Amino acid sequence: MAGNWKMYKTPAETKAFFDAFLPLVAESKHCDIAICPPFVNIPAAVEAARGSRVGIGAQNLYWKNEGAFTGEISGPMILSAGAEWVIIGHSERRQFFGETDATVLERTKAALAAGLKPIVCVGERLEEREAGQTDAVLTAQFQGGIAALSAGDFGRIVIAYEPVWAIGTGKVATPEMAADAHRTLRALVIANYGAEAGAAARILYGGSVKPDNVKGLMAQPEIDGALVGGASLKASDFASIVNF
Ligand code: PEP
Repeated sequence: MAGNWKMYKTPAETKAFFDAFLPLVAESKHCDIAICPPFVNIPAAVEAARGSRVGIGAQNLYWKNEGAFTGEISGPMILSAGAEWVIIGHSERRQFFGETDATVLERTKAALAAGLKPIVCVGERLEEREAGQTDAVLTAQFQGGIAALSAGDFGRIVIAYEPVWAIGTGKVATPEMAADAHRTLRALVIANYGAEAGAAARILYGGSVKPDNVKGLMAQPEIDGALVGGASLKASDFASIVNF
C-alpha cells in the first residue's frame, strides 16, 4: 500500500502526519507500506518513520548518477537520503513533463542500479478507454517501458495500474474493470517472464482509492495493493486503506 503525496506537505506537516499515522498501522503486518513525499520531505519522513514498517519513497528520479542536470535528483541521492522506493512514470509525469515509455525504462534501470524499488505506473487515458484501446495501450507501455528488464530486475519492481481518468477525479474504476486491466498486465508478465514471475508479480491499482472503496477493489484476487494519491495525505484515511 503506497501513498503518493504529489506536491503536498512541508517537513513539519510530514512529521505531524507520521505522528498520527504510525500508531494506526503499528499492527499492520499484512502488507508493505510506503509513503512517497516530495523530495525535500524525504529526510523528515525517514526520520519520522524510523523503527516502523513504513518505507519511504521518491516520486521520480533522473537516470544519471550525477552531472550538470540542473533540477534533477538521482537514484543514489534518493537512496542516501534513506528512501527505498521510487514511483516511475506516473501519469502526471507523462502528461505534464514529457515522460515516455523510453524514459520510464531508463529511470527504472537507474533506480534498480541504485538499489531502489521502483513502482512503475501504466494506464490508459479516457479517450483511449472509450476507443477500446485499453489493452493496446497497456501492452505498448509494458513492452516499451518494462519488458527490456532482465528477469532478475523485473522481479524487483512493482507495477501500478492507474487509469488516467480515475486519478484525482473521484471516478474510481469498478473492481471488475481494474481486475480486467490487471489480468492484461499479468498476461504480459507471463508472456515476457514466465508463469512463476506472473504469479509473483505485484500489481497495484491506483485512481481515487478511498477508505470506502478499497475493500471492493482488494476483494479482486488480481489486485495486490493500491497506489493512493489524495487519500494518502490524511493519516486516518490512509490508515483505513492500509487496514482495509
Ligand atoms: C496517484 O497519484 O497515483 C493517484 C492514484 O491519485 P488519487 O488517489 O488522488 O486518484
